[in-house]
Amino acid sequence: AYYFELHHLSHIYADGTTALTDISLQIPRGKKIAILGHNGAGKSTLFQHLNGILKPTTGTISFQGNKLQYSSKALRTLRQQVGIVFQDADHQLFSGTVKQDIAYGPLNLGWSTEKIEEKIAWAVAQTEVENLLDKPIHFLSVGQKKRVAMAGVLAMEPSVLLLDEPTAGLDHYYATQVLQYLAKLEDGERTILLATHDIQLAYEWAEQIIVMEAGSIIYNGDPITLFYNE
Ligand code: ADP
Ligand code: ADP
Repeated sequence: AYYFELHHLSHIYADGTTALTDISLQIPRGKKIAILGHNGAGKSTLFQHLNGILKPTTGTISFQGNKLQYSSKALRTLRQQVGIVFQDADHQLFSGTVKQDIAYGPLNLGWSTEKIEEKIAWAVAQTEVENLLDKPIHFLSVGQKKRVAMAGVLAMEPSVLLLDEPTAGLDHYYATQVLQYLAKLEDGERTILLATHDIQLAYEWAEQIIVMEAGSIIYNGDPITLFYNE
Protein backbone atom coordinates (compact mmCIF):
# COMPACT_ATOMS: atom_id res chain seq x y z
CA ALA A 1 0.00 0.00 0.00
CA TYR A 2 2.76 2.44 -0.87
CA TYR A 3 2.67 5.09 -3.53
CA PHE A 4 6.40 5.66 -3.62
CA GLU A 5 9.40 3.60 -2.62
CA LEU A 6 12.81 5.23 -2.78
CA HIS A 7 15.97 3.16 -2.50
CA HIS A 8 19.30 4.81 -1.77
CA LEU A 9 18.50 7.86 -3.84
CA SER A 10 21.22 10.48 -4.25
CA HIS A 11 21.26 13.60 -6.37
CA ILE A 12 24.21 15.70 -7.46
CA TYR A 13 23.45 18.78 -9.57
CA ALA A 14 25.45 19.55 -12.71
CA ASP A 15 27.56 22.12 -10.82
CA GLY A 16 28.66 19.43 -8.34
CA THR A 17 26.30 20.36 -5.48
CA THR A 18 25.17 17.28 -3.56
CA ALA A 19 21.49 17.91 -2.80
CA LEU A 20 20.35 14.45 -1.66
CA THR A 21 22.41 11.67 -0.08
CA ASP A 22 21.23 8.07 0.23
CA ILE A 23 17.51 8.68 0.74
CA SER A 24 15.49 5.52 1.42
CA LEU A 25 11.82 6.15 2.04
CA GLN A 26 8.34 4.69 1.63
CA ILE A 27 5.39 6.97 1.07
CA PRO A 28 2.07 5.39 2.03
CA ARG A 29 -1.42 6.09 0.72
CA GLY A 30 -3.84 8.47 2.34
CA LYS A 31 -1.40 10.32 4.57
CA LYS A 32 -0.65 13.93 5.40
CA ILE A 33 3.13 14.12 5.46
CA ALA A 34 5.17 17.23 6.24
CA ILE A 35 8.75 17.48 5.05
CA LEU A 36 10.47 19.79 7.44
CA GLY A 37 13.88 21.33 6.88
CA HIS A 38 15.77 24.58 6.52
CA ASN A 39 16.38 26.23 3.17
CA GLY A 40 18.75 24.08 1.16
CA ALA A 41 17.93 20.86 3.02
CA GLY A 42 16.83 19.19 -0.23
CA LYS A 43 13.01 19.35 0.00
CA SER A 44 12.41 20.80 -3.48
CA THR A 45 14.97 18.48 -5.02
CA LEU A 46 13.17 15.50 -3.49
CA PHE A 47 9.80 16.70 -4.83
CA GLN A 48 11.21 17.11 -8.30
CA HIS A 49 12.31 13.48 -8.22
CA LEU A 50 8.82 12.32 -7.22
CA ASN A 51 7.35 14.14 -10.22
CA GLY A 52 10.03 12.92 -12.64
CA ILE A 53 11.42 16.40 -13.27
CA LEU A 54 14.81 15.27 -11.96
CA LYS A 55 16.41 11.85 -12.33
CA PRO A 56 18.39 10.31 -9.46
CA THR A 57 22.16 10.38 -9.87
CA THR A 58 22.14 7.00 -8.13
CA GLY A 59 19.38 4.91 -6.57
CA THR A 60 15.83 4.15 -7.68
CA ILE A 61 12.27 5.36 -7.31
CA SER A 62 9.16 3.19 -7.72
CA PHE A 63 5.62 4.49 -8.04
CA GLN A 64 2.86 1.96 -7.28
CA GLY A 65 5.39 -0.85 -7.48
CA ASN A 66 6.84 0.13 -10.86
CA LYS A 67 10.25 1.64 -11.31
CA LEU A 68 9.95 5.15 -12.74
CA GLN A 69 10.46 5.41 -16.47
CA TYR A 70 11.44 8.70 -18.03
CA SER A 71 9.89 8.42 -21.50
CA SER A 72 7.54 11.30 -22.29
CA LYS A 73 4.55 8.95 -22.23
CA ALA A 74 5.49 7.51 -18.82
CA LEU A 75 6.11 10.98 -17.44
CA ARG A 76 2.72 12.20 -18.66
CA THR A 77 1.01 9.34 -16.81
CA LEU A 78 3.09 9.96 -13.69
CA ARG A 79 2.34 13.70 -13.65
CA GLN A 80 -1.36 13.08 -13.98
CA GLN A 81 -1.18 11.11 -10.74
CA VAL A 82 1.47 13.14 -8.94
CA GLY A 83 0.72 16.86 -8.96
CA ILE A 84 3.28 19.43 -7.88
CA VAL A 85 2.57 22.98 -6.77
CA PHE A 86 5.79 24.97 -6.82
CA GLN A 87 6.76 27.42 -4.13
CA ASP A 88 6.64 30.29 -6.59
CA ALA A 89 3.27 30.21 -8.33
CA ASP A 90 4.59 32.40 -11.17
CA HIS A 91 6.81 29.45 -12.04
CA GLN A 92 3.84 27.43 -13.21
CA LEU A 93 1.22 29.94 -14.29
CA PHE A 94 0.94 31.17 -17.87
CA SER A 95 -0.29 34.49 -19.13
CA GLY A 96 -3.95 34.00 -20.02
CA THR A 97 -7.00 34.00 -17.82
CA VAL A 98 -7.44 31.93 -14.70
CA LYS A 99 -9.76 29.53 -16.53
CA GLN A 100 -7.31 29.02 -19.41
CA ASP A 101 -4.58 28.34 -16.94
CA ILE A 102 -6.51 25.79 -14.92
CA ALA A 103 -7.66 24.03 -18.11
CA TYR A 104 -4.12 23.62 -19.43
CA GLY A 105 -3.24 20.40 -17.55
CA PRO A 106 -6.59 18.62 -18.14
CA LEU A 107 -6.54 19.58 -21.84
CA ASN A 108 -3.16 17.90 -22.17
CA LEU A 109 -4.60 14.67 -20.79
CA GLY A 110 -6.89 14.31 -23.78
CA TRP A 111 -10.08 14.08 -21.70
CA SER A 112 -13.52 14.84 -23.14
CA THR A 113 -14.82 18.41 -22.91
CA GLU A 114 -17.46 17.37 -20.37
CA LYS A 115 -14.95 15.65 -18.15
CA ILE A 116 -12.62 18.65 -18.31
CA GLU A 117 -15.46 21.05 -17.41
CA GLU A 118 -16.48 18.81 -14.53
CA LYS A 119 -12.95 18.55 -13.10
CA ILE A 120 -12.35 22.29 -13.44
CA ALA A 121 -15.62 23.05 -11.67
CA TRP A 122 -14.61 20.75 -8.83
CA ALA A 123 -11.08 22.17 -8.57
CA VAL A 124 -12.19 25.82 -8.54
CA ALA A 125 -14.81 25.06 -5.91
CA GLN A 126 -12.19 23.40 -3.68
CA THR A 127 -9.83 26.36 -3.93
CA GLU A 128 -12.54 29.04 -3.99
CA VAL A 129 -11.45 30.76 -7.16
CA GLU A 130 -14.83 30.56 -8.99
CA ASN A 131 -15.19 34.32 -9.08
CA LEU A 132 -11.74 34.81 -10.62
CA LEU A 133 -12.15 32.59 -13.69
CA ASP A 134 -12.19 35.36 -16.30
CA LYS A 135 -9.44 37.45 -14.72
CA PRO A 136 -6.00 37.68 -16.30
CA ILE A 137 -3.43 35.94 -14.11
CA HIS A 138 -1.30 39.07 -13.74
CA PHE A 139 -4.11 40.88 -11.88
CA LEU A 140 -4.11 38.34 -9.06
CA SER A 141 -2.61 38.67 -5.59
CA VAL A 142 0.07 36.25 -4.40
CA GLY A 143 -2.46 34.22 -2.42
CA GLN A 144 -4.88 34.08 -5.36
CA LYS A 145 -2.10 32.89 -7.65
CA LYS A 146 -1.23 30.13 -5.22
CA ARG A 147 -4.85 28.99 -5.22
CA VAL A 148 -5.06 29.08 -9.01
CA ALA A 149 -1.83 27.05 -9.29
CA MET A 150 -3.34 24.56 -6.85
CA ALA A 151 -6.62 24.41 -8.81
CA GLY A 152 -4.73 23.63 -12.03
CA VAL A 153 -3.08 20.66 -10.36
CA LEU A 154 -6.24 19.48 -8.59
CA ALA A 155 -8.21 19.50 -11.84
CA MET A 156 -6.10 16.51 -12.87
CA GLU A 157 -7.20 14.69 -9.68
CA PRO A 158 -3.75 13.56 -8.59
CA SER A 159 -3.36 10.69 -6.13
CA VAL A 160 -0.33 12.42 -4.67
CA LEU A 161 -0.09 16.14 -4.15
CA LEU A 162 3.33 17.74 -3.63
CA LEU A 163 3.09 21.22 -2.12
CA ASP A 164 6.29 23.21 -1.82
CA GLU A 165 5.94 25.82 0.93
CA PRO A 166 2.23 26.47 0.23
CA THR A 167 1.94 29.01 3.05
CA ALA A 168 5.26 30.82 2.51
CA GLY A 169 4.79 34.51 1.87
CA LEU A 170 1.14 34.42 2.90
CA ASP A 171 -0.16 36.30 5.91
CA HIS A 172 -1.90 34.46 8.70
CA TYR A 173 -5.34 34.81 7.11
CA TYR A 174 -4.32 33.23 3.79
CA ALA A 175 -2.08 30.63 5.43
CA THR A 176 -5.09 29.50 7.46
CA GLN A 177 -7.23 29.41 4.30
CA VAL A 178 -4.70 27.16 2.57
CA LEU A 179 -4.85 24.76 5.49
CA GLN A 180 -8.64 24.80 5.42
CA TYR A 181 -8.92 23.81 1.80
CA LEU A 182 -6.17 21.21 2.17
CA ALA A 183 -8.39 19.59 4.79
CA LYS A 184 -11.14 19.28 2.16
CA LEU A 185 -8.85 17.29 -0.13
CA GLU A 186 -8.32 14.40 2.24
CA ASP A 187 -10.20 11.35 1.04
CA GLY A 188 -8.30 8.51 2.68
CA GLU A 189 -6.52 7.67 -0.59
CA ARG A 190 -4.82 10.86 -1.61
CA THR A 191 -1.44 11.52 -0.03
CA ILE A 192 -0.40 15.11 0.53
CA LEU A 193 3.27 15.96 1.01
CA LEU A 194 3.89 19.45 2.23
CA ALA A 195 7.39 20.90 2.33
CA THR A 196 7.86 23.61 4.90
CA HIS A 197 10.30 25.13 7.32
CA ASP A 198 7.40 26.06 9.60
CA ILE A 199 7.59 23.70 12.59
CA GLN A 200 4.26 24.80 14.01
CA LEU A 201 2.50 24.19 10.72
CA ALA A 202 4.06 20.72 10.42
CA TYR A 203 3.13 19.83 13.96
CA GLU A 204 -0.49 20.97 13.68
CA TRP A 205 -1.20 19.56 10.23
CA ALA A 206 0.83 16.40 9.63
CA GLU A 207 0.27 12.75 10.57
CA GLN A 208 3.86 11.93 9.65
CA ILE A 209 6.90 14.18 9.66
CA ILE A 210 10.10 13.72 7.70
CA VAL A 211 12.92 15.99 8.78
CA MET A 212 15.68 16.70 6.27
CA GLU A 213 19.06 18.22 6.91
CA ALA A 214 21.77 18.78 4.33
CA GLY A 215 20.29 16.25 1.90
CA SER A 216 19.64 13.48 4.41
CA ILE A 217 16.60 12.31 6.35
CA ILE A 218 17.28 12.73 10.05
CA TYR A 219 13.77 11.84 11.33
CA ASN A 220 10.82 9.98 9.86
CA GLY A 221 7.90 9.27 12.16
CA ASP A 222 4.95 10.74 13.99
CA PRO A 223 4.85 14.36 15.20
CA ILE A 224 4.40 13.53 18.89
CA THR A 225 7.59 11.45 19.10
CA LEU A 226 9.53 14.14 17.26
CA PHE A 227 8.49 16.96 19.54
CA TYR A 228 8.29 15.26 22.92
CA ASN A 229 10.84 12.44 22.91
CA GLU A 230 13.96 14.29 21.87
P1 ADP B 1 15.05 23.13 -0.06
O1 ADP B 1 13.87 22.92 -0.96
O2 ADP B 1 15.00 22.29 1.17
O3 ADP B 1 15.29 24.57 0.24
P2 ADP B 1 16.67 22.45 -2.38
O4 ADP B 1 16.27 21.10 -2.82
O5 ADP B 1 16.11 23.63 -3.12
O6 ADP B 1 16.35 22.60 -0.82
O7 ADP B 1 18.25 22.57 -2.40
C1 ADP B 1 19.12 21.53 -1.95
C2 ADP B 1 20.54 21.90 -2.31
O8 ADP B 1 20.72 21.86 -3.72
C3 ADP B 1 20.98 23.31 -1.90
O9 ADP B 1 22.33 23.24 -1.56
C4 ADP B 1 20.76 24.11 -3.14
O10 ADP B 1 21.60 25.23 -3.16
C5 ADP B 1 21.13 23.12 -4.21
N1 ADP B 1 20.44 23.34 -5.50
C6 ADP B 1 19.10 23.44 -5.72
N2 ADP B 1 18.85 23.59 -7.02
C7 ADP B 1 20.04 23.56 -7.66
C8 ADP B 1 20.44 23.65 -9.02
N3 ADP B 1 19.55 23.79 -10.01
N4 ADP B 1 21.76 23.59 -9.29
C9 ADP B 1 22.67 23.43 -8.31
N5 ADP B 1 22.36 23.34 -7.00
C10 ADP B 1 21.05 23.39 -6.68
P1 ADP C 1 3.75 35.80 10.57
O1 ADP C 1 3.00 37.08 10.72
O2 ADP C 1 5.03 35.74 11.37
O3 ADP C 1 3.90 35.34 9.14
P2 ADP C 1 1.48 34.08 10.89
O4 ADP C 1 0.49 34.44 11.93
O5 ADP C 1 1.13 34.45 9.49
O6 ADP C 1 2.87 34.70 11.31
O7 ADP C 1 1.71 32.52 10.96
C1 ADP C 1 2.97 31.94 11.16
C2 ADP C 1 2.98 30.59 10.51
O8 ADP C 1 2.04 29.72 11.16
C3 ADP C 1 2.54 30.70 9.06
O9 ADP C 1 3.63 30.51 8.20
C4 ADP C 1 1.52 29.61 8.85
O10 ADP C 1 1.98 28.64 7.95
C5 ADP C 1 1.34 28.96 10.20
N1 ADP C 1 -0.08 28.95 10.49
C6 ADP C 1 -0.91 29.98 10.37
N2 ADP C 1 -2.15 29.62 10.70
C7 ADP C 1 -2.08 28.32 11.06
C8 ADP C 1 -3.04 27.36 11.51
N3 ADP C 1 -4.32 27.65 11.66
N4 ADP C 1 -2.62 26.13 11.76
C9 ADP C 1 -1.33 25.82 11.61
N5 ADP C 1 -0.39 26.66 11.21
C10 ADP C 1 -0.75 27.90 10.93
